[in-house]
Amino acid sequence: MIKQKYDRVYNFSAGPSILPLEVLEQVKEDLLNYKGTGQSVMEMSHRSKEYQKIIDEAEADLRELMNIPDNYKVLFLQGGGTLQFAMVPLNLMVGSKKADYIVTGQWAKKAFEEAQKFGDAKAIASSAADTFSWVPKVKREDFRPDADYAYICLNNTIYGTKFNYIPDTGDVPLVADWSSGWMSEEIDVTKFGILWGGAQKNVAPAGMSIVVIREDLIGKAPADVPTYLDYKIHADKGSMYNTPPCWTIYVAGEVFKYLKRIGGIKVMQEMNEKKAAKLYAAIDASEMFKGTVAVEDRSLMNVTFVTGDADLDKKFIAEAREEGLINLAGHRSVGGMRASIYNAMPEEGVDALIEFMKKFEAENK
Ligand SMILES: *Cc1c(COP(=O)(O)O)cnc(C)c1O
Repeated sequence: MIKQKYDRVYNFSAGPSILPLEVLEQVKEDLLNYKGTGQSVMEMSHRSKEYQKIIDEAEADLRELMNIPDNYKVLFLQGGGTLQFAMVPLNLMVGSKKADYIVTGQWAKKAFEEAQKFGDAKAIASSAADTFSWVPKVKREDFRPDADYAYICLNNTIYGTKFNYIPDTGDVPLVADWSSGWMSEEIDVTKFGILWGGAQKNVAPAGMSIVVIREDLIGKAPADVPTYLDYKIHADKGSMYNTPPCWTIYVAGEVFKYLKRIGGIKVMQEMNEKKAAKLYAAIDASEMFKGTVAVEDRSLMNVTFVTGDADLDKKFIAEAREEGLINLAGHRSVGGMRASIYNAMPEEGVDALIEFMKKFEAENK
């Protein structure tokens, strides 16, 4: 059994997921008395000057790390990723009431279905017929030029695919769900009208989405949209219209500080590319394990693979667990294995998994 400091295991969960150990240690240090305030951040008024500093620094660090231009607002919102499936159409489907979706997995499908409640949402491309094992390549002509927006899910957490290009939508604003890739690699924010992500994959505990939105897309929601669901209220109030997800924002802020300490997203990306390359190479070299998606569309964060025998998959997952390599089961809708190797997964964790795969293959030939 491989055990880390504090008897921790290597956690390959897709979300909520692993956080950097040094951030957890800092959080523990701060828990009972945050920087001499005599209280925990959990107990602190969100209107206090101490808390204002926490949220302001989190936003400033995020802007610096992701190179977010001044004409974009950063919103810290409750409701998780799923609420964004509704907030996007409620705020943007206000002109032609058309929106074009590329359906590349469960999360894109859910977003698409939600948008159908509000207007003419159209799936302009989909890989559903092939169990979402690849990402469609779309061209500008594929989008309706009068659509209010186009929507994609950049990294498909469940299937293990990623858009390795950013579709050209012309003048149609592009909205992207970047939940499971958030800060895993550099991304050009200016290519998007909205770039949003749920926190619990790569940033912080559950309970928040970060929405990066271009200013001209704010303030379009019709008057009957519930107050909380209007991006404008949050933009105007600096994510403080009501009590924000205080604790999650604080932990996210500590993660941002950690990312700055290690050298920023470029350095993180290099580490992620190294980890993913090692794991995919091990899968490709194996006679037992097979990747489940098109090689050119492979995700950097969620690595999906199978043995081809459901019972053997189960045995692998159970024995890996015994070794301290946990949460390797694929999503309940697809089976097989999925190793989520988010930012906080150390390279040693990936090495331990590869070593275990080799051992398992030798023992189960
Ligand atoms: C997890 C996930 C979601 C859903 O997030 P919730 O916070 O559970 O609503 C949406 N999109 C992607 C890509 C995800 O990985």
